[in-house]
Amino acid sequence: MLRFHGKVEGSSERLNTAVNLLCMVALMARQQVQADARYGVIDKQMMDVRLLIIEDEPRIADILKTGLERAGFALDVVSCCADAKEALALGSYDAAILDLGLPDGDGMDLLVELRPAPNRIPILILTARDAVEARVAGLNAGGDDYLVKPFDIAEVVARTKALLRRPGGALGVALQAGNVLFDTIGRDTRIGGVPAQLPRRECTILEILLRRQGRVVTRSVLEERIYGIEDDLESNAVPVHVHHLRRRLQEANATAEIHTVRGVGYLLAEKKKMKPVLFRSLQLRLAVPLAALYVAATAIAVGEC
Ligand code: CA
Repeated sequence: MLRFHGKVEGSSERLNTAVNLLCMVALMARQQVQADARYGVIDKQMMDVRLLIIEDEPRIADILKTGLERAGFALDVVSCCADAKEALALGSYDAAILDLGLPDGDGMDLLVELRPAPNRIPILILTARDAVEARVAGLNAGGDDYLVKPFDIAEVVARTKALLRRPGGALGVALQAGNVLFDTIGRDTRIGGVPAQLPRRECTILEILLRRQGRVVTRSVLEERIYGIEDDLESNAVPVHVHHLRRRLQEANATAEIHTVRGVGYLLAEKKKMKPVLFRSLQLRLAVPLAALYVAATAIAVGEC
């Protein structure tokens, strides 16, 4: 264990304090390295489905949260259209459960607004409006499924899972990052409006990265997806495919690019977009106290000299 609680022989209390602080800096730096290395494990969580629940009735929101979390989903809850738009703009959800009667607007309007967006996530409408006309309107407005309150949480869980099992999350969906477009039905790629012929495995890698745009996809996940059980897998197969795909994107002047997260995997993002939230928060959480401790330790040590 990297820790110092003793006294340096013949030294003062201040010097010992400085040494202790420096040990803490080293320990926290090591924790950061361990946290980075754990992305293989964290990625498992990242690859888990994340839901957004848009529900203004606290009791119902609580039932949904409890039931869906027990089913293994990670989720966030918002209670109005404005917060829902803000959350969805982050693009980190795989599906949403939407109440229609919200305090600052109608969920139907939110649906209509979201429908043309590329990479739109599947949306389960969960509402008290039980008339056939309302159901038809909800589905026509862009809802992927419709469930009437009162509900059984088991059915909500089952329907959510069913939505997520759909190819692309919604029929006919086109995935997009910058000027890179991928049609999940025809499996056609276009870069800047020009058709691009991609080999099968590069095409699959692009699709996976597009679906997880802005988030890290581990090398092992890509390996599992592009190779069958019977296939022989060379150790550098994924990096080679990614290298070729990256070059194709560059040569076609794509405005999206593939970043390598060393030792972890790959991330596709539009050029000049910010780093993913997870990295920023992790770096902030660790970098700020690290810097503060380092400054304190240095100040004490210098004062001692
Ligand atoms: Ca409501």
